[in-house]
Amino acid sequence: MTDQKKDRGLLVILSGFSGAGKGTVIRELMNRYDQYALSVSATTRKPRPGEKEGVNYFFKTEEEFNAMVERGELLEHARYVDHAYGTPAAYVDEQLSAGKDVILEIEIQGALRVKEKRPDAVLIFLTPPSAEELKRRLTGRGTETEEVISARMKRAAEEARGMDRYDYILVNDDLDTCVEDLHQLIRSQHCLSSHRKELIHEIRQELVSLNEALATDKEN
Ligand code: ADP
Ligand code: 5GP
Repeated sequence: MTDQKKDRGLLVILSGFSGAGKGTVIRELMNRYDQYALSVSATTRKPRPGEKEGVNYFFKTEEEFNAMVERGELLEHARYVDHAYGTPAAYVDEQLSAGKDVILEIEIQGALRVKEKRPDAVLIFLTPPSAEELKRRLTGRGTETEEVISARMKRAAEEARGMDRYDYILVNDDLDTCVEDLHQLIRSQHCLSSHRKELIHEIRQELVSLNEALATDKEN
């Protein structure tokens, strides 16, 4: 018996203000470690320069998105600053069954919905060290207009109210430290007894069998 037995993967939700560095941190985490699968969401927002269909998002019209909702294809969905976003359920379950830790990079309403449906999901909130730094990163990314940036800063203030509903808060100050902290945090979740039910069951069974065998040996 080894501890290498394949568990089902963990469902990890990473939320955080727009511009906190979620995309950057996840990209780096996936480059470094192969235990992760990233869920690709559907959205009605338009692609940013450089974003690719099926890689960053599945870009949908409102009609197409609503049809996915009606067919029950989404694990959760929510609106964020004028657009709809949702997580296709099939990929998540496929990857969890294959033993991958699946990362959902989603906003708070969706995160809380997933937690209701899957209480074993780990909720992590990523924040920059300060609001000033958030504004600097949003502006520095150069992908949004001033108007969108100010809408996202307002939304950040709303989201901050829900930060304490998350299991963990992770500060993205130094990128390298943040990526390693995230990886260690997820690894440690694998040791939760609630996640090791199969292992617990097996070791109990093995101990009973071994003790029976030993008792039989002694008798003979
Ligand atoms: P999000 O996905 O949360 O909206 P991004 O990953 O797009 O955020 O990051 C927003 C901007 O902040 C990007 O320009 C990115 O390069 C920068 N950034 C991310 N992490 C850090 C960090 N630890 N230190 C400095 N800049 C960062
Ligand atoms: P962006 O437009 O910057 O890519 O994403 C805006 C917000 O939508 C981010 O907070 C991101 O985490 C969130 N988001 C992306 N995909 C999903 C999803 O499938 N469901 C939910 N609820 N939020 C999502």
